Amino acid sequence: MKPAAFDYVLADSIEMVVRSLADSGGDAKIIAGGQSLVPMLNFRLLRPSILVDINRIPGLAFIEEGDRAIRIGALTRHHQLETSPVIAKHLPVLSAAMTHVAHLAIRNRGTIGGSLSHADPAAELPMMARLLDAELQVASRSGRRTIKARDFFLDALTVDLGDDDILTEIVLPKLPPNTGWGFEEVSRRSGDFALAAVAVTLAVSGGAIAEARIALTGIGATAKRAAEAESLLVGLPLDPKVLEQVIGAVRGNVEPNTDLHASADYRRHLAGVLAGRAVTAAWRRAQPVAP
Ligand SMILES: Cc1cc2nc3c(=O)[nH]c(=O)nc-3n(C[C@H](O)[C@H](O)[C@H](O)COP(=O)(O)OP(=O)(O)OC[C@H]3O[C@@H](n4cnc5c(N)ncnc54)[C@H](O)[C@@H]3O)c2cc1C
Repeated sequence: MKPAAFDYVLADSIEMVVRSLADSGGDAKIIAGGQSLVPMLNFRLLRPSILVDINRIPGLAFIEEGDRAIRIGALTRHHQLETSPVIAKHLPVLSAAMTHVAHLAIRNRGTIGGSLSHADPAAELPMMARLLDAELQVASRSGRRTIKARDFFLDALTVDLGDDDILTEIVLPKLPPNTGWGFEEVSRRSGDFALAAVAVTLAVSGGAIAEARIALTGIGATAKRAAEAESLLVGLPLDPKVLEQVIGAVRGNVEPNTDLHASADYRRHLAGVLAGRAVTAAWRRAQPVAP
């Protein structure tokens, strides 16, 4: 099918985006990489009267290292994240996750801002935003504000953005010293959305886990953190008994759906298996390297 007719605005500034969105009275959509929006237009699941193209706005695609955080422009393409030396050095778990996002052609166009705003329940970037405690910067006619990732994802395909909001920047705090990471995903074919995926960081100090983060996707309406499982790890070294408890807590903390691709029971089982592997890998990577 072809999309319903729409007007097209090629924006050259964030102010122009915000004005166009506000003037449309809620009937406009931003287009970034178009990799999720265009299929929805073609299937006529969406019929906006105006598309506001943000691809020509200068300074909206960047990865910058600051003292305490990495700042990423909303128009940064998936492939830029995947291949960035800054991300590889400071947030290697994100580099690993990006290789699981769709196919190269889609990663060349798709943007971090588009993926977070679209909030597919099985997408990797919302999970990474939860794992890395992202802060999302948003501009609208009434000014600018910052939203924490934990407050941003409200439901499947639903985020805390209003009709005249544009996500402009994603701020990812650097991880504590001696942090190991793990990323595990199962999908039916390479490039497909995850049936389930788990991302973990463990900061280790004095032989025990000082901080644990476990994030999941594909297992419910939104990406989420497994807070109970995280708390089981803190203050202890990893051992098989603790790991079994963590796997149980992860399974108890997810609410997957049954769909065409997998049953809820299978996804719940998978979440536990993947969490076990990712926690083990993170623990191993957090160990000091022998001189
Ligand atoms: C075949 C296929 C397989 C895929 N597999 C995966 C996968 O395995 N994992 C995965 O994570 N994704 C996958 N995707 C989705 C892909 O990653 C998309 O690129 C991404 O979800 C949307 O990014 P985009 O820049 O293309 O956004 P668009 O399609 O342009 O926009 C998506 C939505 O976000 C809004 N939006 C875009 N930018 C902003 C902004 N800055 N501020 C506010 N709103 C904004 C748009 O209005 C729209 O509602 C797949 C896509 C396809 C077609």
